[in-house]
Amino acid sequence: MTVTTFSELELDESLLEALQEKGFTRPTAIQAAAIPPALEGRDVLGSAPTGTGKTAAYLLPVLQHLLDFPRKKSGPPRVLILTPTRELAMQVAEQARELAKHTHLDIATITGGVAFMNHAEVFSENQDLVVATTGRLLQYIKEENFDCRAVETLILDEADRMLDMGFAQDIETISAETRWRKQTLLFSATLEGEAIKDFAERILNEPVEVEADPARRERKKIQQWYYRADDTQHKTALLIHLLKQPEVTRAVIFVRKRERVHEVCAWLREAGINTSYLEGELVQAKRNEAIKRVVEGRVNVLVATDIAARGIDIDDVSHVFNFDMPVTADTYLHRIGRTGRAGKKGIAISLVEAHDHLLLGKISRYIQEPLKSRVIEELRPTTRPPNEKLKGKPSKKVLAKRKEKKEKAKEDEKPRAKLRHRDTKNIGKRRKPSAAKTDGAE
Ligand code: ADP
Ligand code: MG
Repeated sequence: MTVTTFSELELDESLLEALQEKGFTRPTAIQAAAIPPALEGRDVLGSAPTGTGKTAAYLLPVLQHLLDFPRKKSGPPRVLILTPTRELAMQVAEQARELAKHTHLDIATITGGVAFMNHAEVFSENQDLVVATTGRLLQYIKEENFDCRAVETLILDEADRMLDMGFAQDIETISAETRWRKQTLLFSATLEGEAIKDFAERILNEPVEVEADPARRERKKIQQWYYRADDTQHKTALLIHLLKQPEVTRAVIFVRKRERVHEVCAWLREAGINTSYLEGELVQAKRNEAIKRVVEGRVNVLVATDIAARGIDIDDVSHVFNFDMPVTADTYLHRIGRTGRAGKKGIAISLVEAHDHLLLGKISRYIQEPLKSRVIEELRPTTRPPNEKLKGKPSKKVLAKRKEKKEKAKEDEKPRAKLRHRDTKNIGKRRKPSAAKTDGAE
């Protein structure tokens, strides 16, 4: 199930109201993905490109937690957010204040560049949530001006940047100082590279990994190419040939329509390939069973429509096949994002008929790399690639079609022209045979 409204997330009325005032009508992808597990108290390892709403993705669940479990007596901060820079700390605190506007929660910042005197105020008063940069915070911890013992949730924002800036050791010290905490949330624009993975492993406890746009992020690890096919029969032959390659250990085959799911399964079965399938009309129990068969390795081929495959998570998919090309580049990315997960290599293969070449061009432009074609010697297409023709002069067929279109457009204009009395009088003078036909239709 995908979350499309904030109220579905079961947030407090006061937070929903603040969201509305901020003009946030629906959660972003990372918010929809990260908020539910964070609300459950799980550790979260979140990644999403810059500007996709990571701040609210961690603020909302912690604010909700503070509202759900109000403390009886005031005391030191319960939520500690670390950011790489002062500016970011300010921004995060500002957003937290806006979101907590209709609550009684107190929010403070601790950063460099601020005189101790001003921070003294922070310490003397009771705080719920503190946003801090590591250097100054550590200093206060050492001087015993900052009490870490009440921290229940530690949040690391822009963890990748903090590591780049050499704060790993500082963060680990703060992590140790807040060892009584119940939850840790780590957000980053990327989770690529060994350093951040190692780091996350030391700081987080069985985290839920969420990412906003896995297809985009991981496409670098996905090798993509296509085979040209003459028709459906040829596509089926190509698919069967490819599925029999030993490196295909777990495949998802995407088709455009529900009817196609059953056709493809039948064709594969004839070739001795067992499949599991998903299509929109399946009852939940059947869906679960289909997925289970694949996950448990009882079959290694799953045939699915885009809609039916939405939200399913199957690990270790070695190959994604586009039996039918998707209509949008975005769908293409979602499809291929099923493979190459968790740093593994993945392969995405498209079977392309003549009429799919426009889509192929669109997808190539969208992913900013041309998809290369491959050929299986014994299954060479007999037709020529249409895109080669398009690059040069238009073919005769295309020219004829264009002419036809032009003429039709002209004809379509005629009735309008005829509305004028002066033109009706001229009909008899027309020499074109088509005019007579148009007149007849009048
Ligand atoms: P990130 O941390 O991923 O870089 P931010 O949390 O700073 O992204 O959010 C980027 C921008 O998007 C901010 O201006 C923020 O106010 C806005 N924003 C965040 N969540 C939403 C939402 N659900 N709806 C509309 N705008 C949002
Ligand atoms: Mg951010």
